Formats: sequence, structure tokens, C-alpha cells
Amino acid sequence: MPRVAIIGAGITGLITACALKDAGVEVVVIEAAERAGGPIHTFPHDDLLLETGPHTLLVRSTPVADTLDRLGLTGDIIDAHDAAETRFVVKDGVVTALPSSPLSLATTPLLSPLARLRLLLEPFIPRFSEPDIDETLASFVSRRLGREVYEYFVDPFVSGIWAGDATQLSARHAFPTLVEFEQEAGSIVAGALLSGLRKFQSDQENTRSPRRLLSFEGGLRRLVDACVDRLGDDLLLDSPVRKLRRDADDWRVIYQRGGARRGESADALVLTLSPRDLYDIEWENIDPPRGALSTLRDLPYAPCALAHVAYRRADVEHPLDGLGVLIPSCEGFHILGALFISSMFPNRVPDDLVQLSVFIGGARKPELAALDPGEILDLVDHDLSRLLGTRARPVTSRVIHWDRAIPQYEVGHGVFLDAMTNLEDALPGVFLSGGFRDGIGVPALIEAGLNRADSLQRHLGLSPSPEKTP
Ligand SMILES: Cc1cc2nc3c(=O)[nH]c(=O)nc-3n(C[C@H](O)[C@H](O)[C@H](O)COP(=O)(O)OP(=O)(O)OC[C@H]3O[C@@H](n4cnc5c(N)ncnc54)[C@H](O)[C@@H]3O)c2cc1C
Repeated sequence: MPRVAIIGAGITGLITACALKDAGVEVVVIEAAERAGGPIHTFPHDDLLLETGPHTLLVRSTPVADTLDRLGLTGDIIDAHDAAETRFVVKDGVVTALPSSPLSLATTPLLSPLARLRLLLEPFIPRFSEPDIDETLASFVSRRLGREVYEYFVDPFVSGIWAGDATQLSARHAFPTLVEFEQEAGSIVAGALLSGLRKFQSDQENTRSPRRLLSFEGGLRRLVDACVDRLGDDLLLDSPVRKLRRDADDWRVIYQRGGARRGESADALVLTLSPRDLYDIEWENIDPPRGALSTLRDLPYAPCALAHVAYRRADVEHPLDGLGVLIPSCEGFHILGALFISSMFPNRVPDDLVQLSVFIGGARKPELAALDPGEILDLVDHDLSRLLGTRARPVTSRVIHWDRAIPQYEVGHGVFLDAMTNLEDALPGVFLSGGFRDGIGVPALIEAGLNRADSLQRHLGLSPSPEKTP
């Protein structure tokens, strides 16, 4: 039976491994850290449950929903409270609800009357005459939808989700659907309407619509734990890979375990570690394209710090009746945004407290992500008192730093994609997969893991199972 070695037990590696194992392929997953999951982890702190990275999964596709099912997680799903339908953005220092319908878009104070008119004109703006040009997201959105839509809708979304800078991110690589709407329908509005219609039709045909914003009893780490249980002894933790070697028809993966160097053989390798970490691995008796490896080393990542804070409910003026608030960079605050955890998952937080997770740093202000916890909490406190009317210091807090939080698909990202293809072409049986290539969100990476498992089975001469789930 063929054997696949997967390097890195983040969500991409875990899902790929579970799907392969389920299809009867032998796997070994080799992870440097003491625990699996990368940024996905949950831990208790005082009376709270804190996430180290993502807080929710936005499940929109049947393969992802089925994967949770197969992992035995369906019964443990906790849907975000209905309040999470409301999202806030700051305009002129005021926390303002994002429009949730065409009617509220027509009256939202987030846009001036001129900006609303400009938005209506979008279908009449000619499509970009040079579709091959890699345009920044800021330029793309401003050109099509106007400057204010960019500043108050897109810039804060990009800071909050990507920890990114829309003046650097590539529209084509980071938001390919929007660019396709323009190229295919001639307009984002027309393309979105058409795609919404198609989605509506397919939801009508499907008895189950999978769209859910969710977590699990015990937090998102349950997803990781379920994969870890499924893999059992096929997952090696605390085992940083140091060297890759080609032995006759096999790959040999040399890793450190305790004081000793050990090895695993495999017919194929899936490399899910970041390109920066990949660069540090030694290659023996095979010469990978060095240029591709050093190009990849420079794939940019944004740093970010996450400040968990809980206040006495009476000490916060704002009702926090939504998912959270995002902050446009033109508003001049330090923080990127905050999730209202106690409104999303009210049963997790004691009644007399409210819990928030605040993001700071990102590609626009990387220096803030590196500050000491005390300095970060001072900035958080300063901004939250202005935005949400907090009247006291938090009763408890915890700061988590990520110096490489989210890969950035900036203008020129195609060079990195080409380097990945070059590496794979030069090294038969080696595949690269992960957030640096397949999308930054956990659901996208679950789908990438399923697809990678299918392509590996084809590569190994096994036909993939018809169901793409572990
Ligand atoms: C603060 C934060 C908030 C986020 N919020 C959200 C969110 O709300 N929703 C969402 O969908 N996504 C969110 N994300 C993004 C999402 O969590 C990540 O994109 C995803 O978890 C990355 O998975 P991965 O498998 O690509 O990489 P990773 O999880 O980074 O896995 C790579 C693994 O490789 C290991 N490794 C490195 N070097 C070696 C070596 N030499 N040998 C062996 N192993 C090695 C690493 O230890 C790591 O475990 C967030 C991320 C962060 C940091």
C-alpha cells in the first residue's frame, strides 16, 4: 500500500491525512510543535474559553459540512447567536451597523448620498480593458464601486479578515470571485446577483443548506482533536523535520525526536509548513530548484496580536448586539476590530461579564503586533473606551502574539504560485498545500485538504473515493 508523509499538522495537513487514511492510504503526519492545529486551539482562562486564532468557521459548502459530520462533530456544533447577523463598522468615530438589505444600503449613514449614487452606477462602469494586469484590491474596488465603499466596506473587512492592507493585496489573487464578476458579467453587482440567484436555485434543490457560522462545544480545538483522534499513532508531534532525501523510489523524511534523528519513508510528500519554514529544511542527494525556494521564503505574512478582554457588563455602555466591529484605517484607531464573543456565544460567558477578542497590528501596523501585552492592553483600552464606552479596565485579559499570522496574497503573488509549481515539477511526488496557496480561511483549507487527498490518490494510481470526506 502506498504511503504519504505530510509535514505540518495544521488544518490542511490534518484534513489531507484523515481523508487519505479513510481511503485506505497509509499516512504519517510529522509536526514540529507539541500540539497539532497551528493557530487553531482553545484553552480555559479564568471562567472563559479563549481561542488562540480563529473563533468561528463559516461553513458554506456541503463537503465541509460533511467533513464535520464524518469527524463526529455535528452533535457538538454551536451556531453563533442570531445577533451575529449584525456587524458594525466605525464611521466618524461612531459604531454603525452595516446595511443588511438593499433598502438599508440605500439609507446607511456609512455612505454619503453621492457615494450611494456612485454605487448605483457600478453596472455602467466599463470593465477593465487590461484583465491581465494585477491590480490592487483598493484600486479595483475604488474603480468599480467608488472610494467610500472601499474605505468603509472593503478596507475594514480586509484588515479584520486578512490582517491585510488593501492597497497591497491583489484583487485577482485574494478576491478572485470579484474579478470574475467584472470579467464575466461586466459588473460586480450583476455578477453577485447572478451568483446569488444560482446559489438560491441550488439551495432549493439541496434539502440541506450548509451555510452556518459555528463553533463547537469546547471551542474550535474540537475540530483539531477529532482529526488527532482519527490519526492516532500516525501523527508524530514534537518532531521538527530537518532534512528530505530521495532514496531510490522513496522519499525519506528525517526529523528530530527528543535527542535523536529519526526517519520515515513515503511514496509522496505533502508540505503544509509555511514557505519560510520550508526554506530551513536541508535537502540531501537531490537538488531542488534553489531559486524557487528562496523566492517562496519571501512570501509575505502579516503579524497580528489578539487581546482577549472581559469586562463587567455594567462597565460597557454599548449593548454589543452583533458579531463585532471593524475599523476602517482612515478612522485613525490603533485596533483593527473586535469580536463580541459573549454576544456570539452567550452560554460560554458568565452572565455578569462581556467578552471581546480584539485584533491589533496586521500588515498596516505590524509594529503594534510586536508590543508587550501591557502596551497592547493600554491601546485596546484606549480605543474601546472611545468606541464602546468601556468605563473600567478589563477584569481579566490575555494577549496572544502571532508574528506570521496570515499569508498575504499581494500584487505579484503569481510569482510565488509559479515557484510552487516549479518545485512540484522538479520534485516528483512532492505537493505544496496550505494557507500560503489555497486560501486563508479554515473552510477553504478543509476543502483544499480533501482535494489534495483526491489528487494524491490519482498520483499514486489509486482512484479517489467518490465522497470527498475523511
Ligand atoms: C489570529 C488568527 C485568527 C484567524 N481567524 C480566522 C477565522 O476567524 N476564520 C478562518 O477561517 N481562519 C482564520 N485564521 C486563519 C486560519 O487559522 C489559518 O489560515 C489556518 O489555520 C492555517 O492552516 P495551515 O494548515 O495552512 O497552516 P498551519 O496551521 O500554520 O500549519 C503548518 C504546520 O507546520 C508546522 N511546521 C512548521 N515547520 C515544521 C517543520 N520543520 N517540521 C514539521 N512541522 C513544521 C507548524 O508547526 C504548523 O503546525 C486565523 C489565523 C490567525 C493567526
